[in-house]
Amino acid sequence: ASGYSLLRDPHHNKGLAFTEKERDSHYLLGLLPPAVVTQQLQEKKLMDNLRKYEVLLQKYMAMMELQERNERLFYKLLIDNVEELLPIVYTPTVGEACQKYGSIFRRPQGLYISLKEKGKVLDVLKNWPERNIQVIVVTDGERILGLGDLGCQGMGIPVGKLSLYTALGGVRPSACLPVTIDVGTNNEQLLKDEFYIGLRQRRATAQEYADLLHEFMSAVKQNYGEKVLIQFEDFANHNAFTLLAKYGTTHLVFNDDIQGTASVVLAGVVAALKLIGGTLADHKFLFLGAGEAGTGIAELIALEMSKQTKIPVEETRKKIWLVDSKGLIVNSRKESLQHFKKPWAHDHEPVKDLLGAVKAIKPTVLIGSSGVGRTFTKEIIETVTSFNEKPLIMALSNPTSQSECTAEEAYTWSQGRAIFASGSPFDPFEYNGKVFVPGQANNAYIFPGFGLGLVISGAIRVHDDMLLAASEALAKQVSDENYNKGLIYPPFSNIRKISANIAANVAAKAYELGVATRLPRPANLVKYAESCMYSPVYRSYR
Ligand code: NAP
Ligand code: MN
Repeated sequence: ASGYSLLRDPHHNKGLAFTEKERDSHYLLGLLPPAVVTQQLQEKKLMDNLRKYEVLLQKYMAMMELQERNERLFYKLLIDNVEELLPIVYTPTVGEACQKYGSIFRRPQGLYISLKEKGKVLDVLKNWPERNIQVIVVTDGERILGLGDLGCQGMGIPVGKLSLYTALGGVRPSACLPVTIDVGTNNEQLLKDEFYIGLRQRRATAQEYADLLHEFMSAVKQNYGEKVLIQFEDFANHNAFTLLAKYGTTHLVFNDDIQGTASVVLAGVVAALKLIGGTLADHKFLFLGAGEAGTGIAELIALEMSKQTKIPVEETRKKIWLVDSKGLIVNSRKESLQHFKKPWAHDHEPVKDLLGAVKAIKPTVLIGSSGVGRTFTKEIIETVTSFNEKPLIMALSNPTSQSECTAEEAYTWSQGRAIFASGSPFDPFEYNGKVFVPGQANNAYIFPGFGLGLVISGAIRVHDDMLLAASEALAKQVSDENYNKGLIYPPFSNIRKISANIAANVAAKAYELGVATRLPRPANLVKYAESCMYSPVYRSYR
């Protein structure tokens, strides 16, 4: 290949870091200015530039531009500055990017499969330049973050998630495939927008929707085999549960909104037991919000309780109560409940709101997953605190404006007794001379390591026990030093090590369950996971 095309190939380009020898042997002489610099210096310069932008969206665009220009440098930056750059390449900035995707769109970064390609999906997959795909993240754009239906512009989400698979989990970038399935959008604004990049029609539903998804799922298996992980991302809950159940027995599928969330929250709860005392089964849980997040978390907690106590899950579920927009979910409502809520309809008289439910149920753990902010009021937190020495309060709704309460409110209203974690990050807070550091229940703790574990073991199915294995591995990474600050999650700066541990535990479970195909099983799975992880350091070309 010519030097000119080498500079334009993001997988191989090193810019000014090409050595004199490389420039000579790869026809690069004259195509670059004379200076030869290290990757470290390039990184320093880029971070300096990035920090000068005041608008987050500009930082996002600069990062995307870097990814298209010099992939290794992009990942080097992301890995070395993970805490600073995660909110740029992922939530919250990626949300704004999706909203404006039509106008900032320059070069397509993933595969678009629309109703127009019906009957030709396999051919579309074959147009993708990489053959060896290990992880696909797919969305239909109907529920992008907390922003709702963004149709085809949801592409920013699979792109962003997969860059985290690489940066945090070490999955090779060339093995990652972002996909957006475009079945239309019900977003009136987008339908009217002259710059909208997607199909200009209302969403296909029912059979038409199911058919396109089925064609996609079949084509993926046909083209890439059984070991490719398909992560469903940001589907509306009416499709999310159905797709997961339908394809769970035939494909390697994972839904981060349901299962990833469940695993990261369970890890936080398990870690919190060190601070609040007791075993999991000693606690009583109350959720505000019974959607993908709420019911997903509830089910995994019930399952872990059941494993620990040998009590059937039908019984352990009774320790968990959920409130939705109509009040406490109880038996008398069973007929009208969506199927994913039915396991949570226990015997109780109707209770119409959260405060009533807190008083009636007396939970030890209060979890917010409704997407509605300011719902953990002073009265609610004081009430939970009145019958708990140390209540565990998790305000998971995103973004920050939707958080059920702030860290400051949780600590102040509980007089410093609450153990608090949230979905969006909050700064440490000082109360009565003690500094409390709130944990962030970020899904990015789990899914990259989880995916890596599946990939390195060649797993062909996801089993709930693997989610439990991931939780267990994450909870173990919380140190005494973390606990002393009230933290129930480890610091993000160690994420590559955390991911390797999660991957190893997940892989071990895959072997145990007989769904791993990479044989023989490596003896030391943590070492093996680490050895498989992608490194963004430049290679030398001879
Ligand atoms: P979802 O599937 O749409 O579920 C939302 C649930 O909240 C539904 O059960 C809904 O009730 C209920 N709800 C809505 N308004 C309510 C109100 N005013 N009072 C009581 N209940 C109300 O959404 P999701 O995917 O579960 O996400 C929910 C939230 O969790 C989002 O803010 C998301 O950002 C957050 N989340 C956080 C994390 C994390 O921290 N790692 C991970 C995932 C999600 P009905 O069923 O009656 O409509
Ligand atoms: Mn999501």
